[in-house]
Amino acid sequence: MDRVDTVVIGAGAAGLAAARTLLVRGVDVRVYEAADHAGGVMQSVHEDGFLYELGPNTFRVSGPALALFREIGLEAALVKASPASRKRFLLHQGSLVPVPMDPVTFATSPLLTAKGKLRLFAEPFIRRGDGENESVAAFTTRRLGHEVTEGLISPFLIGVYSGDENQLGAGAVFPSLVEAEQLGGSILVGSLRRRMRGTEAPGAPGSWSASGGMGGLATQMAMPLGEALRLSCAVRSLNRDGDHWRLETNEGEVEARRVVCAVPAPAAARLFSELSPDAARIADAIEFVPVVSVQLSVDPTLTLTHPVEGFGFLVPREEQLDLLGALFMSRLFPGRAAPGRELITAMIGGRRWPGAVDAPEDELQARIAKALDRALGLRGGIEPLAYTRHRQAICQPGVGHRPAIAKLRAALVGLPPLEVVGSWVDGVSVGDTLGAGRAAALRLMEAG
Ligand SMILES: Cc1cc2nc3c(=O)[nH]c(=O)nc-3n(C[C@H](O)[C@H](O)[C@H](O)COP(=O)(O)OP(=O)(O)OC[C@H]3O[C@@H](n4cnc5c(N)ncnc54)[C@H](O)[C@@H]3O)c2cc1C
Repeated sequence: MDRVDTVVIGAGAAGLAAARTLLVRGVDVRVYEAADHAGGVMQSVHEDGFLYELGPNTFRVSGPALALFREIGLEAALVKASPASRKRFLLHQGSLVPVPMDPVTFATSPLLTAKGKLRLFAEPFIRRGDGENESVAAFTTRRLGHEVTEGLISPFLIGVYSGDENQLGAGAVFPSLVEAEQLGGSILVGSLRRRMRGTEAPGAPGSWSASGGMGGLATQMAMPLGEALRLSCAVRSLNRDGDHWRLETNEGEVEARRVVCAVPAPAAARLFSELSPDAARIADAIEFVPVVSVQLSVDPTLTLTHPVEGFGFLVPREEQLDLLGALFMSRLFPGRAAPGRELITAMIGGRRWPGAVDAPEDELQARIAKALDRALGLRGGIEPLAYTRHRQAICQPGVGHRPAIAKLRAALVGLPPLEVVGSWVDGVSVGDTLGAGRAAALRLMEAG
């Protein structure tokens, strides 16, 4: 029987982060990946002068993610989005308006009325509540007012979760705000206290990618694993064998002392089904929404009502369009479009239109074109480059998500060392997932 110290199942962002954290510490690690490439949903395509993404487009480098890149020698591979990307827009009553990022834009923003803006000043005086058991809408309306929830929080959730503030749970989506309220009685006081304690490792500000895109970053993370990374090799079952693990894979059985399970929730539910029916049930109940990511080559010489500038724009529900948002990728990362073209990524689907994932291309294109016309005055000159359909794209952590994850972990106690990570466990973004993968590996190392 093949033997290895630690097996990582899945080579998405979480699995790669865990594997590299272990490798750099000299652990005998083996990674099994069902697909024929590393990176999971992080995939980039170089074609006809374009570099475009099929999954995530940019990411925030959190403190733990920065620590990971430093220790694996990849900090220099990161590429920061151009400074113009700080400008972000919301479609508001048919026009693009800037998202307030500083006090001046906030004061003059049409997104909130004067009453809505003044309501924010009451935040420190609102009594402490139970954010962990509230939806995002209930939590942010209670603390910041309904205008902030509807005008700013709801579009933000569309950007990150393609989701809905009434269904997402505050504890999972805004853990630091919920914890700040518990710590200081208000978000403001709690956040100030936490900052004074200075316990959080700072990340790198701004939005990031890598020179070869997100897929290129995954390839660079995977490279040092060499033969230890087994592509097109799914793990079919995970069983306990005394104080060890026994895994059945496409290339035969392997025994391991420790396992990091870094696969999506439905795959984890299958692996846990005999091991722990309770853990399997919790993983199986995690909800996802589908998203279609569409890459567009756009003619920039057309006359527009709003220029293609900044990060891109989000489309709030009230605008009654199917598009969730669009990113101006060739503005974020110059050189990603063929000469004389712009590269725009359109996101469609989510809670707003789950059927998008099965819609024909001409219908998707028509609905995207309608939204781009409304937002930018863009008529014609749009060539779709790729449609990527993610059936289970983004996890939707609801109220009670964090306690459910704690129960899942508790259900796996008493087994040989096993860590569960991934976007459905400790945060949906690439930055969260990288940080969580590293943290899981460190916990395994600490446990010995
Ligand atoms: C369309 C889209 C856009 C996004 N945009 C952004 C963004 O701009 N910024 C951002 O921060 N985040 C974004 N995200 C979220 C982010 O990309 C993901 O949360 C993160 O990359 C998930 O990483 P992961 O390792 O948890 O999962 P995955 O990437 O899903 O990796 C899991 C891996 O496990 C493998 N696997 C499954 N079953 C088995 C098995 N039995 N054996 C072996 N291997 C198995 C899979 O093949 C896969 O490679 C986006 C996500 C999507 C889908």
